[in-house]
Amino acid sequence: MNCDPDFLQKLYSSSIADKLKTANNLYDQFYDQLTTDDSLNRALEKLQFLEKELSAHMTAMNMGAQCVQCASKEGGGCCSLYMAGETDAVQMLMNLLIGIEVRRVRDDGFECCFLGPAGCLFAFKPMFCLNYNCTHIKEKSGSAMLQKLEQLSGNLLRHQYFVEQMILGIICE
Ligand code: SF4
Ligand code: SF4
Repeated sequence: MNCDPDFLQKLYSSSIADKLKTANNLYDQFYDQLTTDDSLNRALEKLQFLEKELSAHMTAMNMGAQCVQCASKEGGGCCSLYMAGETDAVQMLMNLLIGIEVRRVRDDGFECCFLGPAGCLFAFKPMFCLNYNCTHIKEKSGSAMLQKLEQLSGNLLRHQYFVEQMILGIICE
């Protein structure tokens, strides 16, 4: 794969608005190639499976309720506008490919613009968000649960990276 540095900059380091626009343009431009690639389709299916496995474990850890409680306190939640900058056009494109309508859902200048009423808009989140090490959750969970959380997040991150490389192989012609 041979990606032009300017194109990579546009994918990963432009403004959130530009990354959104780029992801949507790439979706339109490469729709046929991306959606008829069997290897990519299989890889995206596996990614969805791994994401569901991780979500189920997070639910078992009661993370949803803990996050709601945390986020309701002033300055509490971790989904800040700063974190929104961790998104990139390829990660957005991955979400578009599984039918998620990727758009800003808020603009309060404080929280991440992709944080909806039911949580993060993305099924496939930025790597930084997935890797976020939350001390509140750590304090309230047993070591076996935390170990499993790390293992499942690691599985998802590794496969997400693999899917990202597959997509770059198609769009960096
Ligand atoms: S992950 Fe941690 S910091 Fe973020 S909302 Fe949940 S409890 Fe709060
Ligand atoms: S997890 Fe989602 S809502 Fe939270 S900061 Fe990351 S992209 Fe934004």
